[in-house]
Amino acid sequence: MAIQRRALVLNQNYEPLNVCSVRRAFVLVYRGKAEVLEQGDEPIAGADDTHFPTPSVIRLSHFVRRPHPRPRLTRREVFARDGERCQYCGQRGGQLTIDHVLPKHRGGKHEWENLVTACRSCNHRKGGRTPEEARMDLLSEPRRPSTHPSVMYAPYLTRYGEWRPFLLGWSRDQDLGELGLAAGA
Ligand SMILES: [Zn+2]
Repeated sequence: MAIQRRALVLNQNYEPLNVCSVRRAFVLVYRGKAEVLEQGDEPIAGADDTHFPTPSVIRLSHFVRRPHPRPRLTRREVFARDGERCQYCGQRGGQLTIDHVLPKHRGGKHEWENLVTACRSCNHRKGGRTPEEARMDLLSEPRRPSTHPSVMYAPYLTRYGEWRPFLLGWSRDQDLGELGLAAGA
């Protein structure tokens, strides 16, 4: 049913802001607060056999200021970033733990770049050592996960292909320019 569908909400400067229900998108458009850029393939049936196009991508008529989304640093998010995989031996699933690459007692910080997913036995084996000291290589270098819309909303793309150009086309430079914070300013 069309009402179960989701719509992509773009800021007035075309920055992807969030995902909402089609019902909410419809209300925003109806009240003149947004315009429809792309329609979904199933129209919404109204009274008297009328059909309304389903908004799939809408653009707000006013610019909304909001801070950039920051990924939350939680165990679950670290596991998700690492694909639920021990970053030392590659084992997937099981009892996963968080390992501080540079151990805490040696000044290792609790931040994306110093936290990796480790299985219990690798974590135990590594102990209070660095990967070099323990001769345990990391599968990949830990990084802060991307908050680019094309990454954050990637799971929606299989169902809503029409969102693709709006998600992939967005660039942060464009964003910074809009806010008067262009690089170097
Ligand atoms: Zn392991």
